[in-house]
Amino acid sequence: MATITLPGLIDVHVHLRDPGATHKEDFETGTRAALKGGFTRVIDMPNNSEPTTSIRALKKKKRLVAGKALIPVGFHFGTNGKNTSSFLAAAADEQVFGLKLYCNHTTGEMLIEDLGLLEKVFEAWETDKPILVHAEGVQLAAVISLAQLYGRRLHVCHITQAIEVELVARAKGKGIGVTAGVCPHHLFMSGEWREKLGPYALMKPPLGTKKDMQALRKGLTSGVIDIVETDHAPHTKKEKASKVPPYGVPGLDTALPLMYRAVDEGWFEEKGIRTVLHDRPRELFRIPKQIKTRVVLETGSFKIGDDGYETKCGWSPFDGWDVPVRVKSVMLEGKTLLTEGKIVGRK
Ligand SMILES: [Zn+2]
Repeated sequence: MATITLPGLIDVHVHLRDPGATHKEDFETGTRAALKGGFTRVIDMPNNSEPTTSIRALKKKKRLVAGKALIPVGFHFGTNGKNTSSFLAAAADEQVFGLKLYCNHTTGEMLIEDLGLLEKVFEAWETDKPILVHAEGVQLAAVISLAQLYGRRLHVCHITQAIEVELVARAKGKGIGVTAGVCPHHLFMSGEWREKLGPYALMKPPLGTKKDMQALRKGLTSGVIDIVETDHAPHTKKEKASKVPPYGVPGLDTALPLMYRAVDEGWFEEKGIRTVLHDRPRELFRIPKQIKTRVVLETGSFKIGDDGYETKCGWSPFDGWDVPVRVKSVMLEGKTLLTEGKIVGRK
């Protein structure tokens, strides 16, 4: 059976729910899901119930990671606009890769809508580590101008709408330091999946139109969109089936095989997979190289979910989708962590 070898993949956008919501995921199960999906490094978002907006909360996460994670986990520091005095120490931390800023409502309580506070954040983040934003529509236009005014690097998370791709393309054309990431669910699903899957296709930003989906595919192919990030955001089936289902879907187990499906579907080039899941994420977030690290895929015909999920939530919106590869083995810095599809070690 033919195999494909890749470097260890990097996901710069995951919510591993630890601490605070470890019934959904924790650093152990989340990094197991990563390994199963071919990732050997992930960067965790700060919107936990105890948000990572202080050095104390950051230290706590580091301790938890050290005891539980199977692969290296980095962090994005969070801001509510009122913790700028911690920025210097956070930016100097080598396990911190960026600052996350929420400009639209989502899970957690770190929303900043006040222009004065936003300006303060851009002024105070005096480092070339990127500011990552959840900013949709008009909010995106606002943070692009702030990035330009303050000379900061901006990474636009989970870009969703055609107009946003256009904004990023224009900003890049003007030489503004903006990059963008897209999630597999936005690349493969448009709004009608909400009717098919109900709460299991509910996330922020929401699924767009078919036109949006086409613009995202084109943007990724042309390089206007730099990377694929999963926004792995697990919730239990019970929570999803409740009257007020939470936003978010898991993605670590499934992102890589889906990108090979994109190659089969004819809208993405195989050589681009390494670029969007390894080379560019590494470049944008200045991520150290992992030596003697490789992911081997076997090719064939597989179905997502056939051999279960490693994510604690145990489901995927892509359950049952046909994919042409699966992760066969993972070696991280000379040590075999996964072989014949089974996890056998930790870093
Ligand atoms: Zn997210």
